[in-house]
Amino acid sequence: MTRPPFDEVTERDLRILAAQLGRTPRDVVGIAARCVCGAPTVVSTKPRLADGTPFPTFYYLSHPVATASMSFLEAGQLMVEYTALLADDPEVATAYARAHDEYLADRARFGDVPEIDGVSAGGMPTRVKCLHALAAHALAAGPGMNPIGDLALAASSWSPGVCRCPDYGVDAA
Ligand SMILES: [Zn+2]
Repeated sequence: MTRPPFDEVTERDLRILAAQLGRTPRDVVGIAARCVCGAPTVVSTKPRLADGTPFPTFYYLSHPVATASMSFLEAGQLMVEYTALLADDPEVATAYARAHDEYLADRARFGDVPEIDGVSAGGMPTRVKCLHALAAHALAAGPGMNPIGDLALAASSWSPGVCRCPDYGVDAA
């Protein structure tokens, strides 16, 4: 888990990201979380892309097995459960609002973008809209920062501690 400042992103990281995303990764500023094998699981991107587009999702889940696992969870009842939890548990709601603030503070290190001022990701600070984004934040920040992201990871069949990476095709045989 890594929040800014990040280590230098390597060519190998970028090649794995390209394989994970199916496109050339743009404006990468860091790898915020990794699989035990070293492959990126969460990529951090500039809040304003080189072409000028605002990009609010500072922590993006790139790992194909992790994203599939979150999609599976989203298809079930968990989003409804987590939304109810936010409504019913003031401690969780407070922690979630704090996670939103921390998310914005991390992103602001890479520039202020007025178009997305106050906009984080995943539905924060009051809703649950995207478990991929919330899990990505939890992976980057570590346990205890994003309560909904932590719950989604706990419910997930994927774990950052067990490598289930496909062959990304980036290492010479
Ligand atoms: Zn791996």
